[in-house]
Amino acid sequence: MPPRKYPNILITGTPGCGKTTTCELAAIATGLTHLEVGKLVKERGLHDGFDDEFQSWILDEDKVVDELEPEMQQGGRIVDHHGADFFPERWFDLVVVLRADTQVLFGRLEQRGYSSKKIEENMECEIMQVVLDEARESYRPEIVVELPSNTVEDMENNVERIESWVTQFVQERSE
Ligand code: ADP
Repeated sequence: MPPRKYPNILITGTPGCGKTTTCELAAIATGLTHLEVGKLVKERGLHDGFDDEFQSWILDEDKVVDELEPEMQQGGRIVDHHGADFFPERWFDLVVVLRADTQVLFGRLEQRGYSSKKIEENMECEIMQVVLDEARESYRPEIVVELPSNTVEDMENNVERIESWVTQFVQERSE
């Protein structure tokens, strides 16, 4: 991939850990474009139908990668997804894995109206740090950052950190 002026960032973590909220604020702070994969899968038909058991669209990885490739080549994208195991490694300059404490996550998922089965699965995913392990297996360790996302203060700190990182990236590339 040619060097890009603006970085691509992946913000990932278990559902409910705060990805979308963090991405929206980070996009405002940095001027980068937020791409919410779940939403695009539904809107642009990047799926293989609907899974009744899990009550979600069955994501088609090839369709997602093909659809996003031109935008990722341009750079300046913040990708929001609850997994980190199928995007091309070359896409990202920074991978942020958001983490939430068990009790905090439970409350958020309950408030979302998830079934107890879905809550249980997601809690297990967070406790077993599935997404963090995926990120560490898929990207160079030096670009993977694990950040807490329990409180509003955590979120503000995370957005500030991402903003400073983007500023530095852009500065280094323009020198
Ligand atoms: P995700 O995109 O990871 O599923 P969301 O961004 O939709 O998570 O957040 C789920 C809920 O938790 C939202 O109501 C959001 O406002 C709240 N939330 C997320 N992160 C935090 C945080 N760090 N502090 C307080 N509330 C948060």
